[in-house]
Amino acid sequence: MTDRHSEMAKPVAKKVTDCMSEDDPNANVDGCGATNKARWGPNHAGAKELKNLYSTGKRVQELICVAIYLVLIAYDLFQMVYHFQSSKIMTILPSIVFGIIVADFASGLVHWGADTWGSVEMPIFGASFIRPFREHHIDPTSITRHDVIEVNGDNCMATLPGLIWLAYKYMTQNPEQIQENYNYDCFLMALVFFVTLTNQFHKWSHTYFGLPKWVTFLQDWNLILPRQHHRIHHVSPHESYYCITTGWLNYPLEAISFWRGFEYLIEKSTGAKPRSDDMKWAVKQE
Ligand SMILES: [Zn+2]
Ligand SMILES: [Zn+2]
Repeated sequence: MTDRHSEMAKPVAKKVTDCMSEDDPNANVDGCGATNKARWGPNHAGAKELKNLYSTGKRVQELICVAIYLVLIAYDLFQMVYHFQSSKIMTILPSIVFGIIVADFASGLVHWGADTWGSVEMPIFGASFIRPFREHHIDPTSITRHDVIEVNGDNCMATLPGLIWLAYKYMTQNPEQIQENYNYDCFLMALVFFVTLTNQFHKWSHTYFGLPKWVTFLQDWNLILPRQHHRIHHVSPHESYYCITTGWLNYPLEAISFWRGFEYLIEKSTGAKPRSDDMKWAVKQE
């Protein structure tokens, strides 16, 4: 672990001993091997049930979203490269960095929302969009066995409105209007690009063997979600470090108790109990 990562892990560093073992992340044994009693993993009763809820209909939805996504991003990127002016580089770069920061926050917000509220039993939405979050906590490395469509399909879907908006602008605006809005377009494209890749970065943060060197380089420099950093989220009851794009916002958001404050307000106003569905799946027996 680098010094930077040690520093980021400080708020909950003691609890990391109660998470998945680095040399055997799939077993996720109690106390990182202290008792050798498998607690989570592919053989967990809840994990098996959740895995079987991945339906053909869901697969088709993911495939359609990825196909539309590829057409739109190819068109938008072509237009942005065509209209690029190197004289604007000093304003383009901050726009891109801001887009990455907003993507990291969005990943935290969606992840926190799906981990904390709702249930797999909710009509349509539950089996399609809550299920993967429940499965991931009780079988954390199931994601490493998912293919590129299952890992990235929903994130491609989430970015379609942004890509459609960009395509519409490039089809209807004149060159002067395009130059006027170019920094905003760079922000939006960075946001789209990093939201799209968030679950891929997340998958790599659970992959301890066979990662390409360039991926571990990006992780070591915290340009994408580092492995050690994401382990902090996988401490039961999974209530911290929700941001999974780069993880840059995790420490500051924990420092101000952002998620706990949000939960307090929702619990006070609705009476809903945070993580009650997640806990239900965690204790599921055969
Ligand atoms: Zn989670
Ligand atoms: Zn994870």
